[in-house]
Amino acid sequence: MTGVPRFRFAPSPTGFLHVGGARSALFNWIPARQMGGQFLLRIEDTDTERNREEWVEGLQVALRWLGMDWDEPPVRQSARAELYADALARLGDAGLTYWCDCTTEDVQRRAAERGGKPGYDGFCRDRGLGPGEGRALRFRTPDEGETSFTDLIRGDVVFRNDTLEDFIVQRSNGVPMFLLANAVDDVDMAITHVVRGEEHVNGTPKYLLLRQALGMFDQPVFAHLPVIVNEKRQKLSKRRDDVALEGYRDRGYLPEAMANYLVTLGWGPPDGVEIRPMSEVVDLFRLEDVTKSSAAFDVKKLDHFNGEYVRALPTATFVRQSLPWLETDAPWPPERFDIAKFETLAPLVQERVTVLSEVPAMVDFVFLESPAFDDAAWDKVMVRRVDLARPMLTGCVEAFAALEHWTSSALHDATLAVGESLDAKLGKAQAPVRVAVTGRTVGPPLFESLEVLGRDVTLERLTAALARLP
Ligand code: GLU
Repeated sequence: MTGVPRFRFAPSPTGFLHVGGARSALFNWIPARQMGGQFLLRIEDTDTERNREEWVEGLQVALRWLGMDWDEPPVRQSARAELYADALARLGDAGLTYWCDCTTEDVQRRAAERGGKPGYDGFCRDRGLGPGEGRALRFRTPDEGETSFTDLIRGDVVFRNDTLEDFIVQRSNGVPMFLLANAVDDVDMAITHVVRGEEHVNGTPKYLLLRQALGMFDQPVFAHLPVIVNEKRQKLSKRRDDVALEGYRDRGYLPEAMANYLVTLGWGPPDGVEIRPMSEVVDLFRLEDVTKSSAAFDVKKLDHFNGEYVRALPTATFVRQSLPWLETDAPWPPERFDIAKFETLAPLVQERVTVLSEVPAMVDFVFLESPAFDDAAWDKVMVRRVDLARPMLTGCVEAFAALEHWTSSALHDATLAVGESLDAKLGKAQAPVRVAVTGRTVGPPLFESLEVLGRDVTLERLTAALARLP
């Protein structure tokens, strides 16, 4: 093969970018960048009833979010009807297609009668029909010989031609079938590397027969990527699993973490270090090293990756990236948000969140008029341990009011002293103070939080909580 390697990602727009699609895109983009090749985008939108313009845009937004770019304007199959019509005409002229009026039900019934698998439509034959209502165009597959290809991941893959049905290349409504458009476009776009999900392995011999029929006898390099399964080892499903990349974005996963995690679905670097910058992945990645066995999408592992990336952010970046969660859809009125206060707490919050959508709950006590009390926390600390909560809060109101300097270390010492006078260690002693002021039992370190909140608000909340005690 001569010239620059050309890879492509060819999604059908279905509403969102499937995490498996995102992985396929990366496994094209990465080797393309490594080899100094080109990465192209082809939108497979021939099914005009199912495709929507905003989805096409959304796909590109999601790919860019993950850090991918492409080298030519995206190709839209919906704009290339002439190319497919021309290919169909050439196949027809060569006597390789015929009209057929078998419905899916016909094919399934016959397959069942012959003990074959339902859905296998290998039994249509040319009955000399002309074009007409309800008639599709089928491609005549050879009855003898084999069609084979070499796959970088699977090795040599061989199909007996007599197992390949005469497949449809143009539907009865005149729309070209996926395989036809897919094969024609790869030739037209001079694609040298076809990297895609393993569900396309069985279609590959048909794709190759079409290419040959159109005069292309050389083959692209193939790599069929392993299927992605959930924790129960079931194939990821749209209904059961979180498969939309955009959903992860909207829950505050970082694009770098997400891309890094997706790369590990079927591939690992030789030194075993999985969390690393994309520039290093681009150097180390080899399609030959991708596994054949299925790859499990493990949200806990993704969380671990994301937590690592969140903690590695410069604080200013963490603040900036958190802002969408703090400024819109936050549980407090926008005018109560104060970025300076958030900046003070940010390093502490950054250590404690896995995804950015957790940030508001960590700091809501600062921006809400009064704390959002967690019922379970109130019951555990204020009701069941009211014997400790009441004297602690009373003691702290007095001690905090008398503090000369409102600093976290002074607040710490004062709380410790009140606790000691009640025979309570700091951990137990600070719990009612935390619940009174933040509404929760967990959050950023307490004394730094109180320092940010200020004396007036803190004392007001301690007093209000005392009044609420049983
Ligand atoms: N539109 C196909 C899909 O989304 C593309 C298959 C291919 O990459 O050749 O699965």
